Order: sequence, then C-alpha cells, then structure tokens
Amino acid sequence: MVVPGRRRSIAFFVALGACVVSIVVLLYVGWVLLNWRTGILLFLGSMLLATVISGVVLNTIFLVREIRRNEQHDAFINAVTHELKTPVASIRLYLETLQTRPVEEARRLEFYRTMLEDSDRLLATIEQILRTGRMGAAGRRLNAIRVDLNGLVEDCLERARTLHRLSPEALRYRRGSPTAVVGDPDELRAAVSNLIDNAIKYSAGKVNVTVGTASLNGRYVAVLVKDEGAGIPKSELKRVFRRFYRVPGPLASRIKGTGLGLYIVRSVAKRHGGRVWAESKGPGLGSTFVLQLPICK
Ligand code: ADP
Repeated sequence: MVVPGRRRSIAFFVALGACVVSIVVLLYVGWVLLNWRTGILLFLGSMLLATVISGVVLNTIFLVREIRRNEQHDAFINAVTHELKTPVASIRLYLETLQTRPVEEARRLEFYRTMLEDSDRLLATIEQILRTGRMGAAGRRLNAIRVDLNGLVEDCLERARTLHRLSPEALRYRRGSPTAVVGDPDELRAAVSNLIDNAIKYSAGKVNVTVGTASLNGRYVAVLVKDEGAGIPKSELKRVFRRFYRVPGPLASRIKGTGLGLYIVRSVAKRHGGRVWAESKGPGLGSTFVLQLPICK
C-alpha cells in the first residue's frame, strides 16, 4: 500500500517531469519558429537550461530521499523481524518441552521465568513500534499535565531496577531540586526509560549507571543518564537519534535492538519543546545522554 504522503510526492515529481518535458518541447518548437530572433532565442535557451537543471536537482533529491527510506525500511525489517521472532521461538520451545516430557519443579519454574522475560521483551518491541507509529501521526495532540520530574524519574528507575534485577548501587540517582514540567507523563516516562534501558543494555559487563536531574539556567531542566559502557564514536553522536539507525559494527550484532528507542526520545523531546543530545569520549569510554525540557514555573 502506498501511504498518502508518499503518493502526493510521487504525483508531484511525475507532474514536474511532465512539465519539464512540455517546456522542452515548447521551447524547441519556439526555436524552430523563431530562430531568426537571436535575443529571444538566448532568453528561451537560458530558461530552458535553468528549468532542466532545477528539474534534475529536485529529482535527484527525491531519488536520494527514496533510497534512504528504502535503506531504513530494510534495516527496520531486519531488526524487527529478529526482535519479534526470537522471543516467540524461545517461548514455543519451552512450551513444547513442557508439553512433551515431564520436567522437574525447579526447571519448570526456571522455564516460566524465561518465558515471562521473553514475553516482556516481545511486548517492549511491540510497544516501541506502536509508539513510533503514533509519533509519526500528523497532528497528534499532547495530553499535557503538570508533572513532577523527580517523581517520574524515580518511577523509571524503580521499573528498571526490577526489570534488570539491579541494586541501587548499580543504578544510582542524583536527585536535583524539585522541578515540574508540562507534558504527557506516558511519553516522558517512555523517553526516560529508553535512555536508562540503553545505558544498562550498552554497559559492557558491569552496570554502573548514574541518572541525575539538574536545573539549567532556571529555564530548563536536564535529565542526565551516564554510563561507563560501550561509548559512541564522535561521528555517530547525532546519527544515533535517526529512526531505525544502529551504530554499525560488532556491538550491533551482539546487542539486539530495533533502532527506535532514541528516535522516540528525540520525538518526545521535540514535542515538549526540549531537545536531547549524546556525549561520549569514544568507543569503550561510556556515554552521557542529556534530555532537556522546559521548566514549568
Ligand atoms: P537500539 O538500542 O534498539 O539499537 P536506539 O535507538 O535505542 O536503538 O539506539 C540507537 C543506537 O545508538 C544503538 O544501536 C547503539 O549503537 C547506540 N546507543 C544508544 N544508547 C547507547 C549507549 N548508552 N551507549 C552506547 N551506544 C548507545
């Protein structure tokens, strides 16, 4: 199915091509009829050249955009297929084992735990895909209320500690002064949780993550998520926020993901009048993500 936006742009470029061809034909006929008038010829010739050049430039931009979109779709299908298939295959295997042969109590409980973890992973992937779709929907309104940011960050930390079975020392909180922001609590929670989950996921081995809140020049508040993990090369610091983008290399094949988490964080930041950026000294040297939001006085 062709989405309406894309259908419109394809129609525009087809019409543009048709116009360029008509102008070329008209000018050519004009040239035959008026070849004795050198001045007009020169004018029409320049017009033709300018039109053809702009047409080619616009078509090239369109083509490049389409190629990039195709690449993104390929990356998305690869990542998402894997992220959807693996937990389902794993749950199926455990269920088959439980169905076909007797399993002792301890192992059975272990199977149930693994299946629950797999279904959580599946749900998280589905939630990210749905959220990305909602973010892209034009004209979507923000259900904004006054939110206590420290409380929201604490909720996210509690969730992450339970989910990843981490101690308060492995996932620390440097609580700033009480600050309120105006926003959709569900979206803000998703953004902060994505940053925390990434910091844990990309911590090579030992998790040592610090989350903090701090006021910036009285107008903005920042949520800082700092890890001592894989780090990010300088050239990738901006790209990581693109939709479906994953830093290429061995890390991407070892640690699974869809490339949607940071895109969601950036979309949420923009919708709330804020921004997000990444800082890192390079591979292996950890990363800090800063989510900046306007303070509600
Ligand atoms: P995913 O984690 O599903 O791949 P994200 O959009 O959350 O997608 O992240 C995009 C990419 O940014 C990741 O693939 C990873 O390469 C890089 N990245 C994100 N967070 C971190 C982090 N804390 N440390 C190192 N790399 C990170």
